[in-house]
Amino acid sequence: MLKKKRKLLLINPLNSGTKGLIIHKKVIYPPLGLGIIATLTPDNWEVELMDENFEEFQYKEADLVAFTALTSSVTRAYEIADIYRKKGTKTVIGGIHVSMMPDEAIKLVDTVVIGEVESVWPTLIEDFENGNLKSKYMGMLLSMENAIRPKRDLFHKDYNFASIQTTRGCPMSCDFCSVHTFNGNCYRLRPVDDVLDELETLEHNMVYFVDDNLIGYGKKSQQRAIELFNGIIDRGIKIEWFCSASMNFADNEEVLELASKAGCRMVLLGIESERIDQLQDMNKKLNAKMGIDSYDKVFSTIHKYGIAVLGAFIYGLSSDTPESMAARTDYINNAAIDAVQATILTPLPGTGLFNKMIEEKKITLNNYPEDWQHYHFGKVVFEHDIMDHETISNEIASNWDKLYNENTLKKKFIRTLKQTKSPVAGIWSYGSNLQYYNLVFEHDNSRPHLDLVDIFGLKDIDSNPFI
Ligand code: SF4
Repeated sequence: MLKKKRKLLLINPLNSGTKGLIIHKKVIYPPLGLGIIATLTPDNWEVELMDENFEEFQYKEADLVAFTALTSSVTRAYEIADIYRKKGTKTVIGGIHVSMMPDEAIKLVDTVVIGEVESVWPTLIEDFENGNLKSKYMGMLLSMENAIRPKRDLFHKDYNFASIQTTRGCPMSCDFCSVHTFNGNCYRLRPVDDVLDELETLEHNMVYFVDDNLIGYGKKSQQRAIELFNGIIDRGIKIEWFCSASMNFADNEEVLELASKAGCRMVLLGIESERIDQLQDMNKKLNAKMGIDSYDKVFSTIHKYGIAVLGAFIYGLSSDTPESMAARTDYINNAAIDAVQATILTPLPGTGLFNKMIEEKKITLNNYPEDWQHYHFGKVVFEHDIMDHETISNEIASNWDKLYNENTLKKKFIRTLKQTKSPVAGIWSYGSNLQYYNLVFEHDNSRPHLDLVDIFGLKDIDSNPFI
């Protein structure tokens, strides 16, 4: 008689209070980490994914329940884990937040995976089967030579973008970022052919490269990007995609030309601030070294190849004042930046910023774990050096009003079309702006939700994944 399979339930929790940067299910990306766990789980297990981006949690029987979580969604993960623990079902959690806060997680979940999961998941499953599940597993940073591909058939079919990872790690150490702590300072690259093989298996033609910097730093990684883009072109892989990169994205026009031919339509650049002193304060070395005067050239060079620029900026930096934030908004609105991700400085665990604010007792929303749900980049969670809470919150709201009002968005859209001559780049950047508009005005009932508003008659354009 066949032995009954054990059941692993994977849960992707969603912050129930606010969606934060994740605004619309159509622009979020499948949980790759959970897909990788599914691949690593042996065949004598049945694996199911419950994805709160698409379905509200409903209790389902399972032998083992595993979560991934960001800081903003970890409160929700703990809440669901509690339901299972009360019924005696073992729970496991991994991801960037608990890797930085394992001692917190271990009180609320049976097992914590610290770091990248690949090196420990098979052992964890074996231990569970032997009734010997440990409370902590320490993942190692493995080479990307034999990267595990996610089991994509688990992902909800309504994800409009496929996501894929081609590198891990970052040699930079920006003060507000925990990527280098979680994935390490070494920039690890997957072999190009392996990436191309996986790209050929994707059912989507819109793709997000989740790498923190697809182009990397230095000649070797530039060469590898060239090989990747040539491979996409040579194999006839028909995709349109966007990615994140650093301000060095435009250093080599051959890279840009090939990226564009290979389907690149938008790039997210971490610009953060237009002030050198602030960039130095946050240890954003590359931007500080390049200097703001070179940015216009970077944007125009990227546009020349039909690629839109999504600029990420931070408000509420320690030296910010009402005037400096207004100057940032003027800069953004006047520069050739197509889409804007404006966020509030947020001290995430594992960052230098968090450690400093803890030491200086600056964090005001610190009733953990409940308060993690406010760490979604849209709320001031700390005491600012210069502005009181009301002033900084109001000033940021008024800046966002100037960034995301309908007239500005329309102007940006027209300018993007002119500069990139790419309808897809125009629509993607316009759609991104609508998403950020909806984020920043999420709780303002006086404003319409623009993803449903047809400013340009675009909502009938099927190719716009954002609307
Ligand atoms: S913000 Fe970007 S460049 Fe800076 S450490 Fe994080 S991943 Fe690296």
